[in-house]
Amino acid sequence: MAFSFHTHTTFCDGKADAATMAGAAFGHHYTHLGFSAHAPVPIKTRWNLPWERAEAYVATVRALAREYAPRGMKIFLGLETDYAPGITMPDEPAYEPFHLDFSIGSVHYITAPGEAFFTVDEPEEQFASKVRKWAADGDYRRIWKRYWQYMAEMIEHGGFDIIGHFDLVKKNNADGRWFDEQDPAYIDAAFQAVDLAAEKGLVAEINTGGVARGKHHEPYPSARILKRMYDKGLRITIGDDAHAPQHIGTYQHVAMSAAWGAGFASLWYLDAPGLWKEISIDQVEKTL
Ligand SMILES: [Zn+2]
Ligand SMILES: [Zn+2]
Repeated sequence: MAFSFHTHTTFCDGKADAATMAGAAFGHHYTHLGFSAHAPVPIKTRWNLPWERAEAYVATVRALAREYAPRGMKIFLGLETDYAPGITMPDEPAYEPFHLDFSIGSVHYITAPGEAFFTVDEPEEQFASKVRKWAADGDYRRIWKRYWQYMAEMIEHGGFDIIGHFDLVKKNNADGRWFDEQDPAYIDAAFQAVDLAAEKGLVAEINTGGVARGKHHEPYPSARILKRMYDKGLRITIGDDAHAPQHIGTYQHVAMSAAWGAGFASLWYLDAPGLWKEISIDQVEKTL
């Protein structure tokens, strides 16, 4: 058994079409694959599924699900939604007609209504120039303060199944360029979000998207946060955050060893909409 519930395609900012991604997953002996296009939003971006292509996305994923079901791979229709006050929410009512199997709730945007929009995972230099304007006083702790505030708010708000890349805020912070991830206040804010998620009974993903892009050696979340997740009994799953076929299955061993390192012996996977099942990491590793 192998699975990932975080897959992008050319319907949003992925590099390959849905059929190619499904084929790659099948080639890696996946039993469960979730498609999670960046959900349509009311603003113009280069990475979201455009509203006018949403119907085609739904039809394509459903057709692939029918094609692969008899071959032993379940395919799920999902969206990676945004918690972005003033822009959109994970449980945006306009998604209802899609009859999603699941959704990921992610924080990418850290700006408030009235401020210029930008995300924590923008290309490095673009991020740098926007952040310098946004935090003109040079207090870059504001980046993680807003991020963890939104993460906690999103968890409280609910309306999604999986928490996406828990500490994505570190993406552009290699070598502590903007802030100190060991700052006790940073850790405290991150832990508060973990504790809240555990209280709500949510599932968080170990996301290897940053590893796949060569941004980080360790997945999201960092070891320390993952350990807290273990201590609090938060359930975890795996998300390749695949934007190309070569991201599928390639970095799952990184996620497994991170999970092991934090104390986890099992992972959770979606076997049907709303139905989470537990599996030992041993059994997943055997498949890979
Ligand atoms: Zn994301
Ligand atoms: Zn993603």
